[in-house]
Amino acid sequence: MTKRNSIARMTEEMTAWRRELHQNPGLAYEETYAASFVEKKLTEWGVSFKKGVATTGIVATIEGRENTSAKAIGLRGDMDALPINEKSGQPWASQKSGTMHACGHDGHTTILLAAAKYLSETRNFNGKVHLVFQPAEEGAHGADTMISEGLFRDFPCDAMYGLHNWPFLPVGKAELRAGPLLAAVDEFDITITGEGGHGAYPQSTKDPIPAGAALVSALQTIVSRNIAAVEPVVVSVTNFNAGTGATNVIPDTATLSGTVRTFSVKAQDFVEQRIRDICDNLGAAYGVKAEMTRYFRNTKATINTPKESDFAAQTLVNLLGADNVNADCDLCLGGEDFGAFLYEVPGAYIFLGQGTPDKKSPHNQTLHSPFYDFNDEILPIAVDYFAELVETAMPVVKNAA
Ligand SMILES: [Zn+2]
Ligand SMILES: [Zn+2]
Repeated sequence: MTKRNSIARMTEEMTAWRRELHQNPGLAYEETYAASFVEKKLTEWGVSFKKGVATTGIVATIEGRENTSAKAIGLRGDMDALPINEKSGQPWASQKSGTMHACGHDGHTTILLAAAKYLSETRNFNGKVHLVFQPAEEGAHGADTMISEGLFRDFPCDAMYGLHNWPFLPVGKAELRAGPLLAAVDEFDITITGEGGHGAYPQSTKDPIPAGAALVSALQTIVSRNIAAVEPVVVSVTNFNAGTGATNVIPDTATLSGTVRTFSVKAQDFVEQRIRDICDNLGAAYGVKAEMTRYFRNTKATINTPKESDFAAQTLVNLLGADNVNADCDLCLGGEDFGAFLYEVPGAYIFLGQGTPDKKSPHNQTLHSPFYDFNDEILPIAVDYFAELVETAMPVVKNAA
């Protein structure tokens, strides 16, 4: 299923790498096994790289056979695992209890590494490729950290591309969309402070619990009454804690926390301010103090730029056929750290199908499930996609020889 035979021939080797990485997972900024694995291979192939970007991150650079285009493309693969006890039952399951590659970043690291091998051997392009091995994708800001440590200053990119394996789509299919693709993931904490007392004498207290209950309802009106129906926003209160367990005591405080998902900075700014305003006013109405103590913008929205999104879609069509590419897929309410790169440079992120007909297969389990496993069958497809992006975006001058 690849255009390049040399990539198809790497399948066995890539599969071995992927399974070795799977057995040796590392959490955010602790991806030392993967980092040394990558560094060793790059050194073996004579590819230059900078290590220690955002602790364990690596940026490798490959120059094309020609370098007159003044263009550079960034390709990104993430490396971190999750704090999950693996139950996939695969022979190559994690050897580290409580840590697991349950999002397939072992596969993403392998794809980028194999792309480095192919591109350094063939160098069939005019320009530069920067291969960004990113740590700490899972809510730990690896992308932002790499950027703040000078990623684009040291390795300027005209465009950046990335992908995620997608258990919800069959092998051989891909999805993306121009514009917003994955949500910004924010978190908030609220503390309601009243005055506790005897449960039989509420009139002598300032009860934080009815205020909290009203607050949960009021927060739901942000989406239903303050945001246009065409703008996708989710506000979920996911924790509500109050009381000591005693049935005859009204507590002093109640705490609430939750998550906000948005697809534009405008909506994000609006929701943050609206939660603050509702807290202040509702607290006053109930005679308690309701305060948003924290609003944390955890992961930026992933917003594909139109030109690069079209280019990625066309590249996928060239490789997989038009019937297998959905260039206008649904929005995904999950978050992805790749979005941070797209705030700095143009680019596109895609979902690459890895599902199989056997519904019970580990490849069909949802991301972050203890039963999940990356599907090695898609390694050559993914590497072929990265190679096609590079060779099409920065073609060598045909009659140069
Ligand atoms: Zn994940
Ligand atoms: Zn992931």
